Amino acid sequence: MGNEIFDIIIIGSGPAGLTATIYTSRANLKTLLIGGVEFGGQLMLTTDVEDYPGFPDGIQGPELILAMKAQAEKFGSRILQENVTSVDFSKKPFAVYVGEKKYLAKAIIISTGASAKWLDIPGEKKLIGKGVSSCAVCDAAFFKGKKVVVVGGGDSAMREALFLTKFVSSVTIIHRRDKLRAFPILVERASKNPKVSFIWDTIVTQVLGVDKVGGVILKNVRTGKQKHLETDGLFVAIGHSPNTQIFRDRLPLDPKGYIIVKNETKTPISGVFVAGDVSDWHYQQAVTAAGIGCRAAIDAHDYLENLTNE
Ligand code: NAP
Repeated sequence: MGNEIFDIIIIGSGPAGLTATIYTSRANLKTLLIGGVEFGGQLMLTTDVEDYPGFPDGIQGPELILAMKAQAEKFGSRILQENVTSVDFSKKPFAVYVGEKKYLAKAIIISTGASAKWLDIPGEKKLIGKGVSSCAVCDAAFFKGKKVVVVGGGDSAMREALFLTKFVSSVTIIHRRDKLRAFPILVERASKNPKVSFIWDTIVTQVLGVDKVGGVILKNVRTGKQKHLETDGLFVAIGHSPNTQIFRDRLPLDPKGYIIVKNETKTPISGVFVAGDVSDWHYQQAVTAAGIGCRAAIDAHDYLENLTNE
């Protein structure tokens, strides 16, 4: 793309980035979306999305993303399915690198989202893909008729567990407290499902197995008592951490790595905007990400208009 300067580069292709792309390209801004190799973010790993407005019967996560992508393309945006490797916001136009390739833009929207967290316990890393997973939608089919455990007490854990019940013989949810933080409707569905059981006040301290998961070591956090539980799979559903590695030393991050915004979508660097889970540790919903993506696009549009009028 040589010395071409885009009006705007949007980094990240979840609902925040795609909504921003729809708005900026529809506003005739020359828009490049660099969406990552794993295009679409977490919705690509989600089955039924039941709470996105406009779909009374629900919609599959990937279907929603592909519809948003088609809508963004319709208005003439350029879309790359590559990973941004570094950025330079120290001078204008801003530079965004994909390896050796450099892309320039007058404004940036960062919408790189967040990724699933791991337990960071012995045995976990080496057994990822061999019984350890963070995505039931992706991997449940490998566990037909088997016993699995899910770790976590939030919406993700309930969703993962419920999805797994379609394949496995049993799901044991292991939660570190005795209270779930998931939405009541998900708790009710999980509690009523005969394949689902709970172990409370308990953490997983080790994953056992050489080539595949054979069991886990559990520790009751109240009594300190340990026990061995046989299982064929471990699904980790303990929340997310933001994808902000490439912005370290470029933008202010909070202690958990989320980008600190100055005002809604604005960062301390004028012309660099933020949208979605990359700065939102609280709501983390497709619809809130889409909403803030729209706001970031409008803010970027206003910023570019003011540049022109200067
Ligand atoms: P979350 O709400 O942050 O829940 C994470 C769970 O994992 C919590 O129960 C937490 O325990 C537990 N946990 C965290 N670190 C742990 C560790 N090291 N060891 C053991 N347990 C650990 O994350 P989430 O479930 O991914 O949900 C994130 C957001 O996405 C929420 O806003 C949620 O509403 C949304 N979401 C919505 C849907 C939907 O269907 N609408 C689906 C998925 C997610 P504590 O409870 O003790 O903190």
